[in-house]
Amino acid sequence: MGIEEAPSGFLLTSVETLAGLVRKASLWPVTFGLACCAIEMMATGGSRFDISRFGMEVFRASPRQSDLMIVAGRVSQKMAPVVRQVYDQMAEPKWVLSMGVCASSGGMFNNYAIVQGVDHIVPVDIYLPGCPPRPEMLINAILELHEQIKNEPLGRDRAEIARKVEAAALQATPTSHMTGLLR
Ligand code: SF4
Repeated sequence: MGIEEAPSGFLLTSVETLAGLVRKASLWPVTFGLACCAIEMMATGGSRFDISRFGMEVFRASPRQSDLMIVAGRVSQKMAPVVRQVYDQMAEPKWVLSMGVCASSGGMFNNYAIVQGVDHIVPVDIYLPGCPPRPEMLINAILELHEQIKNEPLGRDRAEIARKVEAAALQATPTSHMTGLLR
C-alpha cells in the first residue's frame, strides 16, 4: 500500500505533514520553455539565482523524472496537445506553475492561434503574473507553491480535489473558439 492509499485518521495526519515537507523540498521541474518567459526561467536555474538552493537541482530532461511543470510562455494551439502529453507523462503527485501573463490568460495574444490560458489544457496550481516575470518573482511563486504542497492532503482527499479542479477548468468557457477543439 502506498502512502496515497493510507486510511484517514491521526496516523495519516502525521504522515501528511512529513510527506508535505519532503515533497516541497524536492521538487524537480521538467525542461519546458515555450517563449520569451523561458529565458527568465532558465536564468532562475543559473548560478546567480540558483534554484538548487530549494532542492530543485537542474531542470529534468524527462517528464518521468519530474513533478513540476513551469509553463513559461504562450501556448499555441499546435503545442497544446504536446503540453498535455508531457503533463500526462510526469510522475504523480505533480504540480503546474503558469509563468507569465501569456501562459495564464493568453496575454496580449487574444487571437485564434494562442490558447487563452493553459488551465484549458492542464490543471494549474499557481499563477505568476508579469511580462516577463523576473527570476525573483518565479522564486517567490515557487516558495508559495511550497506552502501549498506542505499543506496538501494525501490519498483519496487529494485525488478528489485534483479531479474536481481539473473538471472545473476543462468546463470553463474558452475565450478562443479554437480551444474547444482540444476537448
Ligand atoms: S508574458 Fe511576456 S515575456 Fe512571457 S511569453 Fe508572454 S510576451 Fe513573452
